[in-house]
Amino acid sequence: DRRVVIVGAGMAGVQTAVALREQGWPGTITLLGAEPHQPYDRPPLSKAVLLGKAEGSAFDVDFAALGIDLRLGRRVSGVRPAERLVHTDAGPVPYAHLVIATGAEPIALPGSEGVPGVHLLRTLDDAERLQPVLAGQHDIVVVGAGWIGAEFATAAREAGCAVTVVEAADRPLAGALPAEVAAHMVGWYADSGAVLRTGARVAAVEPGAVSLVDGTRLSADAVVVGIGARPATGWLADSGIALGPDGSVLADGALRTSAPDVYAVGDCVSFPSARYGQRLLVHHWDNALQGPRTVATHIVGGDAAHFTGPVYDPVPYFWSEQFGRFVQYAGHHTAADAMVWRGDPTSAAWSVCWLRDGVLIALLAVGRPRDLTQGRKLIEQGAHLDEARAADPSVPLKSA
Ligand code: FAD
Repeated sequence: DRRVVIVGAGMAGVQTAVALREQGWPGTITLLGAEPHQPYDRPPLSKAVLLGKAEGSAFDVDFAALGIDLRLGRRVSGVRPAERLVHTDAGPVPYAHLVIATGAEPIALPGSEGVPGVHLLRTLDDAERLQPVLAGQHDIVVVGAGWIGAEFATAAREAGCAVTVVEAADRPLAGALPAEVAAHMVGWYADSGAVLRTGARVAAVEPGAVSLVDGTRLSADAVVVGIGARPATGWLADSGIALGPDGSVLADGALRTSAPDVYAVGDCVSFPSARYGQRLLVHHWDNALQGPRTVATHIVGGDAAHFTGPVYDPVPYFWSEQFGRFVQYAGHHTAADAMVWRGDPTSAAWSVCWLRDGVLIALLAVGRPRDLTQGRKLIEQGAHLDEARAADPSVPLKSA
């Protein structure tokens, strides 16, 4: 049997199974997921699900009808590429092709593990534990003003909680955006009624309080930690499959790993981007949608002679919903790229373009989804963009 085994039943794993069937894969597809729940989507967890506005976010996929052998509550502990076997808590499973789709794990705040009232936000179980905290309008300290921290703070304020966000850097989203751009997001916290403390390092977390290095003690019924995530690849340690220093599975342009017929996709993998001249590790939903199509094409076509298949080199894209704003980013910029403001960043809707040698390479849109759609196309095409046009928000980025 030409069995494909997929490890991890999140967005990337599920999309790989679906793409294999869409592309005509006739063999067995076994999808192994550690979580007990029907596979679900994560973005709603920090939005509607937290507020109890959505029951859950299960994918609308009929696994039985697609002939996908879905096994939930099944954790994979290791893989032996030489024997083409994965080891699970319910025994070994053989494969012809293996797809690693184990996603990422949130990074715990050192010293806060096991302290009552401290939460992470990655899984449906995490969101369900946080629902009563929001419904009870508790006082909450959020550690980290990144994407997750901002979205969680938004939901908690909407629920009527007192929210303090503690950020070690001098601004929100320090890892993603330059200071001049992030400066305009600082006010969003205050407008929502949340307190943002930048340059604030946590010294200790105890039940009911967070102490900062400067001596401040913040009382907290609950603490939510959003300081980043790393690839969930610890189970590959003895496999011989190459991992990078950031813990990502090191894949090539076809998302193939260092072991034969083993692929990796989604939040757990990094891949070489010719477009950006560097290896990318992308932790966003769109990457877990697009990557699986490449993997499926290679698995389905891989037996044909002279098959080369597509190279995965996407323009990364993500969105965030925070403080009543729809924030979107496409591309990848560096500090060396020319930044062009498009609209007034103190207003409700504005964008920022990044140009390299007159070519649009990245775009941030706040409440301007058309800029994002058009900009993303220009970035994909490597098209030139006149700087004056980029700077004029009344002119579309792209002619119809
Ligand atoms: P995951 O979704 O992490 O799925 C991996 C699965 O593998 C998990 O279910 C895990 O339990 C399982 N697994 C791990 N190890 C094993 C093992 N050893 N054996 C078996 N199973 C295993 N992106 C955006 O672009 N926009 C957003 O607004 C946005 N919001 C988000 C909100 C939240 C709260 C979170 C957590 C993420 C958000 N993201 C967002 C990011 C996006 O959800 C991820 O990029 C996407 O989920 C990645 O999919 P994945 O399948 O690679 O990984």
